Amino acid sequence: MPIPIVFTGTRPEIIKMAPIIAAFKKIGQGFLFVHSGQHYDYEMSIQFMRELELPEPDFAIKLRAGDPVGRLGILIRKFGEILRRERPSIVLVEGDTDSVLAGALAANKLGIPIGHVEAGLRSYDLRMPEEHNRRLVDHISNYLFAPTQRSKLNLDAESVWGKVYVTGNTIIDSCINNASKAERLSKISAPSGDFALATIHRAENVDDPRVLGEFIQAFIESPIRIVLPLHPRTRARMRRFNLWKRAVDSENLTILPPLGYFDFLALMRRCRIIVTDSGGIQEEATAPVIRKRVVVLRYRTERPEAVEAGFARVAGLDKESILESMRWALEERRPLPEESPFGDGRAAERIVDILGEVGAIGV
Ligand code: UDP
Repeated sequence: MPIPIVFTGTRPEIIKMAPIIAAFKKIGQGFLFVHSGQHYDYEMSIQFMRELELPEPDFAIKLRAGDPVGRLGILIRKFGEILRRERPSIVLVEGDTDSVLAGALAANKLGIPIGHVEAGLRSYDLRMPEEHNRRLVDHISNYLFAPTQRSKLNLDAESVWGKVYVTGNTIIDSCINNASKAERLSKISAPSGDFALATIHRAENVDDPRVLGEFIQAFIESPIRIVLPLHPRTRARMRRFNLWKRAVDSENLTILPPLGYFDFLALMRRCRIIVTDSGGIQEEATAPVIRKRVVVLRYRTERPEAVEAGFARVAGLDKESILESMRWALEERRPLPEESPFGDGRAAERIVDILGEVGAIGV
């Protein structure tokens, strides 16, 4: 039986690969699960594997923080050793992290086919490390699973040589599959009354003291209370840039540790609006089980579908424009669409069917 390898490295990759792993289990398809350890601690990775009922990784590379070039080198070498030994039928990677790039490069050098889940996203913002990674991976992938027609058009315009399929984004599958479970199992006590749920973690934002300062000041002056589950990177930068005390002293701002998926889903369902620089959360906001307006803390988004459908507004990085977009999100009365532009919750099923058709899985 051909054995695929499912490769993950960070929190969003675990969440977006979970529906594919569930679909493999449902049809009795064997697979190997490799975790790169780009995120490897309970808060940022293990709790997601438990909540989403993923198996223990067959291989977990424990990667220490360090310079990105050294880390990429170590990952390619270690991942290459696993691939040489296991000879999988395909390597499935998801998204745009350094782990994805390393996994794809190792597979490419060993002549093993690559399936890229969430292919074809483009922000055209070359300050984002992710924009480089997603372009590179798309160009060495054999099978490209584009979430939307627009992402397929991006790939067609770049003449990628692999075969492109429009499947929807598996994050919508995850939201739909887990929403009611999250309501049952989440123990988070949401603040009483209206609140905005915020997250910030992108390197090009939080590593810049000026930008991070604008974000924190916007939260302090926000017209609605802000609940901010804090990514470890952001916490460290707030301390380093002397923003920590100002933030914790503000009564308008509630800082939480990074949350598990069920708690986060529960808060997304309960909040009035979402404010974020995350990629995945822009998609989740459009899921039929969430349907919230979202203020995007960036200059550009690789998810313009959310803007076009009326869910999102790209606010930029300065305090005044963030506050202005938050007022839009709170006051806009036009009803949000019932359906997500990122799919109908059956993306994993389609991807697994295609893998069967091309002989990458199956008996
Ligand atoms: N998320 C979570 N807990 C948190 C913050 C985010 O479970 O405290 C989930 C969220 O539901 C989404 C994913 O993490 O599915 C987004 O990850 P992140 O923002 O780190 O990465 P990006 O999507 O920007 O690559």
